[in-house]
Amino acid sequence: MTDTIQWDKVVAEAAQILSDYIKIDTTDPPGNEKRAAEFLAGILRKEGLEPEVLSYNEHRANLVCRIRTKSSEKPLLLLSHMDVVGAVAQDWLIPPFSGLIKDGYVWGRGTVDCKGMGVMELMALVLLKRAGVTLKRDIIMLANADEEAGGESGAQWVVENHWDKVAAGFVLNEGGMGIQNMFGRNMMLPCFGEKGPLWLKLKAKGESGHGSMPTDKNPNNKLVAALARIARHETRFTLLPEMKRMLLEAGKGMQFPVPLLMPVLVNRMFLNLLRGRLKKMKKINALLRNTISITNLKSGFKENVIPSESEAVLDCRLLPGQDKDAFLDELKQVIDDPDIETEVVQFHQPSLSPSDDRFMEVIKKVIARNHPGVPFYPIIGAGFTDSRFFREKGALAYGFIPCLFTQEEVDSMHGINEKISLKCLEDGIKNIFELCKEF
Ligand SMILES: [Zn+2]
Repeated sequence: MTDTIQWDKVVAEAAQILSDYIKIDTTDPPGNEKRAAEFLAGILRKEGLEPEVLSYNEHRANLVCRIRTKSSEKPLLLLSHMDVVGAVAQDWLIPPFSGLIKDGYVWGRGTVDCKGMGVMELMALVLLKRAGVTLKRDIIMLANADEEAGGESGAQWVVENHWDKVAAGFVLNEGGMGIQNMFGRNMMLPCFGEKGPLWLKLKAKGESGHGSMPTDKNPNNKLVAALARIARHETRFTLLPEMKRMLLEAGKGMQFPVPLLMPVLVNRMFLNLLRGRLKKMKKINALLRNTISITNLKSGFKENVIPSESEAVLDCRLLPGQDKDAFLDELKQVIDDPDIETEVVQFHQPSLSPSDDRFMEVIKKVIARNHPGVPFYPIIGAGFTDSRFFREKGALAYGFIPCLFTQEEVDSMHGINEKISLKCLEDGIKNIFELCKEF
């Protein structure tokens, strides 16, 4: 059936929808996703589908649309978020909310993260409806608010208040993707798990006094010394079996003698030896260990006053399978100062779905057919997405925008000049359409 679809027309249609969707500024905060939800609902309604706008308040809403079947199989949910991160227009080549279609790309904030995927999912739904495909299970599309700021009015709210409408056994979401020319070859990297964020506030207590008379009780001295120890601290490498497989595969594309040496290199002892070089490969490094970034510092109010307190914030990310309390104990030893208190600001359990489930098998089959020869390796993600809310409900969730992005497109997420190629749009729609048909 995929053969009878006129893909050039579908892509032109999708590009125009995405362009119009980008023009609706959903920078979060404040989000204002309601207009975007109504825009998507309008398109779905015209196709004879029955979308529903679930309003959180006057300005914020989530969009859900379901193709019902008589099947008792657990539904598949196609997830994306409508909100985007902000953009500083003067840094961009084109206005970030122009939705310009030019040179084979749609440009603008949200084209990759995550409105592009939203349009792929919407078009897949529309094509299923137009073709009258007999499905093996219900397909639900959910475009939600507030992913970029925590999900309180988005996925979390929908899961807590409208579970009956989105109760799915399987979820396809953002997170992983295909990447061109990674270590010299194209790779499809779906995410089956995500690291868990652990945000901590460190508070150093001391004694205030006059800046002209230095004292050991200056909380800034204590905090700076502790932070220096934290910055120098090396967390242990932990190689999940899936990451090991991915690295072995990636090595095959590298120059001689790396492919031969890779099986020996991929173990913890060697990772330790390569520590310095790995740190420069930020993304890979983040998937091999718990990480700590010092992100905020706050202290003092006047040049000549020693404050009584100072604060720092740490953004720590834990690998699946790691224990929060054990990590906090490790950190306490590194800080090694009883005058520094540690407070947990936010924590989400690292989340994980099995990397070899039958849903993943179907994704793999579709990708193998449409992208022959491109290695397919499930990995974990360093960031976190709305998938966690669904995993908590027992659904299997995979993060995968099923197309091959260039490194430039990947870097444009949350960056400048964000854009998605029409080729990516086409592949994404086709892959999601076939996945819904076959699963
Ligand atoms: Zn996103």
